[in-house]
Amino acid sequence: MSEVAAAFRALYGYEPEGVWAAPGRVNLIGEYTDFNDGFVMPLALPHTAVAAVARRADGVLRLHSADIAGPVVELRTEGLEPLSGAGWAAYPAGVVWALREAGHDVSGADIHLTSTVPTGAGLSSSAALEVVTALALRDLYELPLSMAELAGLSQRAENAFVGVPCGIMDQTASACCTEGHVLHLDARDLTRRQIPFDLPAHGLRLLVVDTGVQHALGDGAYAERRAGCERGARELGVRTLRELSYARLPDALRELSSPTVRGYVRHVVSDNERVARVAALLDSGDVWGVGPVLTEGHVSLRDDLRVSCAELDLAVEVAVASGALGARMTGGGFGGSAIVLVEEAAAGAVSKALVSAFEKAALARPRLFEATPSAGARRLA
Ligand code: ADP
Ligand code: MG
Repeated sequence: MSEVAAAFRALYGYEPEGVWAAPGRVNLIGEYTDFNDGFVMPLALPHTAVAAVARRADGVLRLHSADIAGPVVELRTEGLEPLSGAGWAAYPAGVVWALREAGHDVSGADIHLTSTVPTGAGLSSSAALEVVTALALRDLYELPLSMAELAGLSQRAENAFVGVPCGIMDQTASACCTEGHVLHLDARDLTRRQIPFDLPAHGLRLLVVDTGVQHALGDGAYAERRAGCERGARELGVRTLRELSYARLPDALRELSSPTVRGYVRHVVSDNERVARVAALLDSGDVWGVGPVLTEGHVSLRDDLRVSCAELDLAVEVAVASGALGARMTGGGFGGSAIVLVEEAAAGAVSKALVSAFEKAALARPRLFEATPSAGARRLA
């Protein structure tokens, strides 16, 4: 019996019906593009949220996380209210709410979970929590829902129940990624393509640098960027910035009066183009060629969208200066993590340079680990 199942038994006094896992993710390229109907390219991490779950017929939902000090949270499935707070429990409770809203008869559950996805590090621990809950309930209640539909319901939970206006990337990555691949996702029609991303075969590694910082600034900034992108689209007479081709970008920029919005539009349109370029490079087997595109993406996030911060800039700058092929912040920014594409032989030197640069700048030691493209959500037992 797995540890999580044993903990469920100790907590609730009976055996769970099953155990499920859903991963966190890093995004290789395509940032702040999903809510503009654009393109993204995430990969799943080996880090997962794992949940032991059993159904209940009595309308009670009990939630417990091994990672949060505190008692079991007990709710009633009928009384679930969006934006009611509930702290961490809002993520799984929001999924139950979204399933029921969509007409699925989820009558209750006991859930115990734990996660190895670092929280608040830009690695989507929240999506992992939602997707593992959604998948467990789908399987137990035999709901006719695809993985992509589970991702959509999980996003709805985060948007409407928790109150975070995220796009569709994180939940889709957690639900739909496959081992050894990046996921090319068109956020407009949700078309997915798994692209092989075999780093060892090319003598490469993808490192994650978790800066450990999360600047408060990030909270309102995401909504502000969203609003700015919508304003840009309106002024340019397109439904979303996705409709704007890269070829039309120079003309479009001349039509925009606000320099801020001009920067947002340039970032989104150019990052969509970078996703296309990375897809073409991977398709042609040129994984090394991806490096400079990542760094280009970082400059765009730093200077045009302005969602980076000193710690992320330092990580990228030091990684590239010490021999990485490319690097960029990943996720929402204002702290969190950067990714670094590096030759296997240079990985040690780059890691050392990062640690010593952070030390020199009197910053907390960054957490470094390797991102191996891992499996999406699945049943474990
Ligand atoms: P990210 O998704 O980038 O990690 P978020 O702020 O979106 O950051 O989500 C983090 C939140 O998700 C935490 O504050 C907590 O409420 C919830 N969470 C994540 N992992 C766990 C866990 N193992 N147990 C309980 N809650 C968790
Ligand atoms: Mg999140």
